[in-house]
Amino acid sequence: MGTILITGGLGQIGTELSEHLISKYGSEKVLVSDIKSEASGDIRYTRLDVADLDKIMKVIKENDITDIFHLAAILSATGEKDPFLTFNVNLMGTQNMYTVVKKLNLNKLFIPSTIGVYGPTTPKDMVPEDTVIRPATMYGITKISAEMLGEYYSKKFGMDVRGLRFPGLISYKFPPTAGTTDYAVDMIIHAVKGEDYTCYLKQDTEMPMMYMPDALDAVIDLYEAPRSNLTRSTDYNVGSYSITPASLYEEIKKYYPEFRVEYKPDYRQDIADGWPHSIDFTKAQRDWNFKPKYDFQRTVKDMVLNLKRKLK
Ligand code: NAD
Repeated sequence: MGTILITGGLGQIGTELSEHLISKYGSEKVLVSDIKSEASGDIRYTRLDVADLDKIMKVIKENDITDIFHLAAILSATGEKDPFLTFNVNLMGTQNMYTVVKKLNLNKLFIPSTIGVYGPTTPKDMVPEDTVIRPATMYGITKISAEMLGEYYSKKFGMDVRGLRFPGLISYKFPPTAGTTDYAVDMIIHAVKGEDYTCYLKQDTEMPMMYMPDALDAVIDLYEAPRSNLTRSTDYNVGSYSITPASLYEEIKKYYPEFRVEYKPDYRQDIADGWPHSIDFTKAQRDWNFKPKYDFQRTVKDMVLNLKRKLK
């Protein structure tokens, strides 16, 4: 393997995935990029807009890039505020990645997708990869299109494009930006800080979630799996458990009995209402041994422990 390029590397997943890849392959083998002008810490960093194909080509050639983890995206809630930007970054940005992988004959491309590809007409429970898929958000439309293009190019040109559909991700190291599932992280942070929380979703809104360490393992395990074991390209479902704001509140109260939450649903309720309650990830288990280690209780315990240290 030459050098790995991470796009969108300063976001919620990118910050932790870069650390993970640097500790696995060495800092000289990982080039982190993002649209932000500067990065902190001891990493090799370059500013890169994924909508700029010429610059992507240049960065790849100059840095001996062979593999790309393409995380740059506009997430669901911001996506609804600026759908044209979302189209450009999520779809055209990913198309640019496909172009460079093909033109420069790169080794592998990883693209994360989302449960946001599902829509209001998708069945709600234990949803498999293949089902009714008619997303109602620009985020979902760009993500399903990116998935399908990756699968198409894999078949047509033999490119090695791999991806999975993440549920909401819970993590403490870097704040989530603007997803619909972010209430989970926000609620725990408020509890640890001793503050009340106003939740933007109704208390019984059920969505699938996963803890960040399991998400990072899933990325690496899928990336390293023998290609011959894979029966899908860009859309493996992964996840750990399904929760509601009310069930999270009950779990947090075990640590903070005084904690109070009130519910004031906003536009994100519409997005959440179009997403599944639970997903079927048996294909990831079968093909590359996906096995999350953190259940709901262990996730909350670990979050509380680490946030207490971090926010001290
Ligand atoms: P994030 O918003 O925290 O990070 C995305 C990064 O992309 C940001 O640092 C942002 O500056 C960067 N970016 C935005 N526009 C860019 C551009 N034009 N060029 C280069 N960089 C740009 O998001 P995240 O949570 O880290 O998500 C990463 C990926 O994982 C996305 O593809 C997202 O769809 C997917 N995903 C995330 C979640 C989750 O819960 N966090 C769930 C499902 C899927």
